[in-house]
Amino acid sequence: MATNDTIAAIATAPGRGAIGLLRLSGPQAQTIATALCGTLPAPRTAGLRAFRDVTGAILDRGLVLHFVAPHSYTGEDLVELQAHGGPVLLDCLLQAACAAGARVARPGEFSERAFVNGKLDLAQAEAVADLIDAASREAVTAAQRSLDGEFSRQLTQLAEALLEIRVWVEGALDFSDEDVDWLADARLHQRLQQWRGELALLQAQTSQGRRLRDGMTIAIAGQPNVGKSTLLNRLAGVEAAIVSDRPGTTRDLLREHLIIDGMPLTVIDTAGLRDTDDAIEREGIRRAWDVMHKAEAVLYVSDDRDADSAEDQRLLQQLPLQIPVLHIRNKSDLSGAPTQVLRTPRGIELRLSAATGDGIELLRQQLRELAGWNPAASDKQTIFTARTRHLVALQAAAAHVDTAYQGLLHQAPAETIAEELRLAHQQLGEITGQVSSDDLLGSIFSRFCIGK
Ligand code: GDP
Ligand code: ZN
Repeated sequence: MATNDTIAAIATAPGRGAIGLLRLSGPQAQTIATALCGTLPAPRTAGLRAFRDVTGAILDRGLVLHFVAPHSYTGEDLVELQAHGGPVLLDCLLQAACAAGARVARPGEFSERAFVNGKLDLAQAEAVADLIDAASREAVTAAQRSLDGEFSRQLTQLAEALLEIRVWVEGALDFSDEDVDWLADARLHQRLQQWRGELALLQAQTSQGRRLRDGMTIAIAGQPNVGKSTLLNRLAGVEAAIVSDRPGTTRDLLREHLIIDGMPLTVIDTAGLRDTDDAIEREGIRRAWDVMHKAEAVLYVSDDRDADSAEDQRLLQQLPLQIPVLHIRNKSDLSGAPTQVLRTPRGIELRLSAATGDGIELLRQQLRELAGWNPAASDKQTIFTARTRHLVALQAAAAHVDTAYQGLLHQAPAETIAEELRLAHQQLGEITGQVSSDDLLGSIFSRFCIGK
């Protein structure tokens, strides 16, 4: 994809500000900037210039900075005009640039060009967007590490090691008529197993990085009055939800964003589940079921004094099978039973008291486990930002390598094994963008801000 047009965008946030930035990138960037500013300063040095529109009228005076290809963010000629940050003024500048031959950039197009020109790989380009979107200090550090190429470096190492294994297996294809059985060599099995262990490590880190970026959404559900809202307030550490003795008080969804040991969580309190003729309450209950189906986990709350009631059993059975359910037996202070984690044939139950806070630490621990969150690994040394797309590709790579390994153990034909390893390799390449489709690129870069 050769880019022969020059793109322009206002790169600072919309609205008024002290400074506003107009960015140009492409083969005509210098020519267009010259039309606006008269002359350009030497590359990489700032120069004060008057900015003019097509009629020659001065719009503003400001600094100009230009970078010559390939030594720029995009890898193309790139010019930045620093004007005063007025929306109308910046719009006039953008129009002047377009009149001089530029085209308004699509969201993310500067980064897309950086990717196309090999300045960033795809995982790094995504990290640029993640850095801009980062909602916590941890997320900033993690995105910065990805942008630095930490994730890409580990992927490249894995890909190179896999390539060596592939060369070995494909060698077996080429020399299949010889007496030596290449594929039976214990060293090959060992290498493959070791590689699989390294991949598992990267998967764990990636899953942690994905959590840091996307968090996890959990629904709190159960019958009325069992303490759902009290539990949410206890987890949030603030009075977010209305707690009331009157059943049916939480009629709509209540969303709270929490951070537990650095892990972002969205917890949704839902309307109590019961039969009712009240139309508003019924709508709340319908939404509650909707949320339970979309959540990544459900905290099903019941009153410990009555936790094995037929109604609770009935409701628990209606919960979507594929979603992990943590059964909270609340009000342990009233039942008098010890707070603890109970492993039952139906899954994990947790007895606690939302009112007193007894057992809440056990719940936090269970939530960390559910999310696959390792607080020790969330320190700055090992974490990088990652996306579901990355995790899915790593999982697919793992599955192909597992199939290849099984093939080795069961003397599958070398062709089959080689093909599985090739597919695994391809999955790794999709993360950094060595293998990519236009659809994938489009969906990634269209979510960027304009001017980035
Ligand atoms: P929800 O309808 O499930 O959201 O229940 P609420 O959180 O509104 O609580 C209903 C009632 O139970 C309120 O009076 C709470 O104070 C009380 N409650 C909630 N959790 C506990 C608990 O752990 N122990 C005791 N003793 N009371 C609780
Ligand atoms: Zn409630």
